[in-house]
Amino acid sequence: MIMSAEKENIPSGSNFIRGIIERDLAENKFASKKWAGSPGCADHQKAGQVDTAKIRTRFPPEPNGYLHIGHAKSIFLNFGLARDYEGICHLRFDDTNPEKESQEYVDSISEMVSWLGFGWENGKENNLYYASDYFDFMYQSAEALITHGHAYVDSQTADEMRINRGTLTEAGKDSPYRNRSVEENLTLFREMRDGKHADGSLVLRAKIDMASPNINMRDPAIYRIRRAHHHNTGDTWCIYPMYTFAHPIEDALEQITHSICTLEFEDQRPFYDWLMERLVEAGLLCNPVPHQYEFARLNLTYVVLSKRKLIQLVEEKHVSGWDDPRLPTLAGARRRGYTPAGFKLFTDRIGVSKADSWIEYTILEDCMREVLNIDAERRIAVLDPIKLVIDNYPLDSNGKSQSEDCFAPNHPLKPELGKRVIQLSKELWIEREDFMEVPSKGFFRLTPNGMVRMRYGYVVKCTGCEKDAQGNVTVVHCEYLPDTKSGTPGSDSVKVKGNIHWVSAAHAYEADIRMYDRLFKEANPGSGDRDFLDDINPNSVTTIKAQLELALKEAKPAESFQFERHGYFVVDRKDSLAGKPVFNRTVTLRDAWQK
Ligand code: ATP
Ligand code: MG
Repeated sequence: MIMSAEKENIPSGSNFIRGIIERDLAENKFASKKWAGSPGCADHQKAGQVDTAKIRTRFPPEPNGYLHIGHAKSIFLNFGLARDYEGICHLRFDDTNPEKESQEYVDSISEMVSWLGFGWENGKENNLYYASDYFDFMYQSAEALITHGHAYVDSQTADEMRINRGTLTEAGKDSPYRNRSVEENLTLFREMRDGKHADGSLVLRAKIDMASPNINMRDPAIYRIRRAHHHNTGDTWCIYPMYTFAHPIEDALEQITHSICTLEFEDQRPFYDWLMERLVEAGLLCNPVPHQYEFARLNLTYVVLSKRKLIQLVEEKHVSGWDDPRLPTLAGARRRGYTPAGFKLFTDRIGVSKADSWIEYTILEDCMREVLNIDAERRIAVLDPIKLVIDNYPLDSNGKSQSEDCFAPNHPLKPELGKRVIQLSKELWIEREDFMEVPSKGFFRLTPNGMVRMRYGYVVKCTGCEKDAQGNVTVVHCEYLPDTKSGTPGSDSVKVKGNIHWVSAAHAYEADIRMYDRLFKEANPGSGDRDFLDDINPNSVTTIKAQLELALKEAKPAESFQFERHGYFVVDRKDSLAGKPVFNRTVTLRDAWQK
C-alpha cells in the first residue's frame, strides 16, 4: 500500500506514542523513579535522586553501518519526544555483537544525530552509552536466571534446536538438557565464559515454555560462545549476549521509560516483559521497569533502507562512498543538500503509525523543496549555455563591451535580504533551450524577430543566429531596447510574453555541477525476483559545466541556493576548493517523475 501523508491524516506532531506518554504522565507513573546520574542496577539507582527527566527514551543504533533516512524517523521520534515532554533521550550504541562494528560507524552516527539538531548531554551528564559497558551486568543477570531456575545450558546442536523449536502450528519439544541442575548449569555457564568450550557447542537458554504459541517464548537463546574481538571490550569475553536478552537490560539499566522500536519486535515484547519481571524478582532491577512500544518503520519508494544493501552498494562501488549524494544515508543526504529542517517536516508529515506502509519519495522531496524555498537565496545559473550577443550594446573607448549593474532580489519572499548586483554586458550566456529558430506553438522565449525580457535587464529583440557545420546553433544575436531596463520608469512600455535568465560572459564563473537523479529506476528496488542491483538507474548522475553568476564563486561548502528556474543546489562539502565550488543538485523545482 502506498500512502500519502494527506490520506493518513495525522495531525502534525501528534501520534499514538504521544497518547501513551501523556497518559503515563497523567497517572504519575514515573513520579518516584530514581536516577543516580548514570546507568546501573537496582541498588545503584535506589541510592539516587528522583529523576528530573519526566521520561527517558533512547536511540539505539548498532554501529555496523551509516545511518539512513529511516533512522532519521527514529531519531526525530525519540529525541523529539524527550524534548517535548521534558525528558532525556540517550544515544546508545548497541554494540553487543562483536563482529561488524567499528569506531568509524560510531563517529559518523554521533555526527549525524548532532547534525539533525539533537544532543545527549544534560548539564554535566553525558547520556552517550555503549551497551558493551553492561556486559558484566548482563553476565550477572544470566547467572541470576540460572540460580532461580529460569535458564539452562543446552548442549543440543543448532540443527537439533531448530527442529525441536516446532513451528507456528506445532509445539516445540523440550531439550533433553532442560532439566539440568542449577549447579550443573552454573558450572557449564562459567566454563563457557572461561573459554573451556568450542564456539557454538553450548548455549544458555531462558527456560520458559516450549509449547508457547509465541515461538520467541520457546526457551530463547540468551548467551552464545563466540571467540571474536570486540571493538570496546577487546578479548575479555568469548561469550556474548543475544540481542533479545541484551536490549531490555540496556533499557532497564538506563532507566528508560518508553523503549520505542520497529514493528518486527512486537513478538519479542512478551520476552522483554518476562525478563524484566525475573530480574526485578532477583533484586537486580527496580520498578517501574521500561516498556516497549512498536511503530511502523519507514519504507520509502526508490531507495533501499537496509544496511546490508547499502553496504553492498558501497563495497561493490556502485556509488562513490557512504556519503555519495545519491544514497539515502544521512551523510549522503546532507551532501546532497537535504536539510535537518526538511527531515523534520517530513517526519511530522508522515506521522507515526502502527501499520506498515510505503511512503512516496516525492513526499520527502516536497519537504526539502518547501524548506529550501524559504531558506535558500536565489542565484542565477545557466546550465546548458549558448552565447547571446547584444549587437547594439555600446563599447567603451577601448573597443570593449561596456557593462552595467542590474539588481536581482536575493529572495522574493524576504525583501529584507535585499538585492545584489549582477553585471550585464554585450555577450551573455543563455540556456540553449531558451532559443528556438523555428518556434513550436506556445514557445514565448527567444526566436527570430521575437522579443523577450532578459530578467532584471532589458527587453531584447532577436535578430538571428549562427550555426556550426552540423547545423547546431552556436551564437544567437539580438538588439536591446535601451528604455526598457527593469526597475526604471517606463520599463514595461514594451510588453513581452517571455522572460529568460542570463549571465554576463565576462562576469561568469564556470562550475562543475552534478545533476543527480534517483539511484533506482524502480519504486521497489529488487521486488519480485529481481536483484536490486539490476534496478539501478544508469543515469543517476551527470556532471555538467555551467555558467554561474560571479558571486557564486565565493559560495561556501554546504551553502544552498535556488538557481532560478532550475531547482535547489548545494556547494559540495567534499570536492569544493576555496574560490572553486562544485555544486550538487539537491532537487528540481518541480517533480520531474510525476506523469
Ligand atoms: P539492520 O539493518 O542491521 O537490522 P537497523 O536498520 O535495525 O539495522 P539499527 O542500528 O538497529 O538499524 O537501528 C537503530 C534504530 O533505528 C532502531 O531503534 C530501529 O528501530 C530504528 N530504525 C532502523 N531502520 C528504521 C526505519 N526504516 N524506520 C524507522 N526506524 C528505523
Ligand atoms: Mg537493528
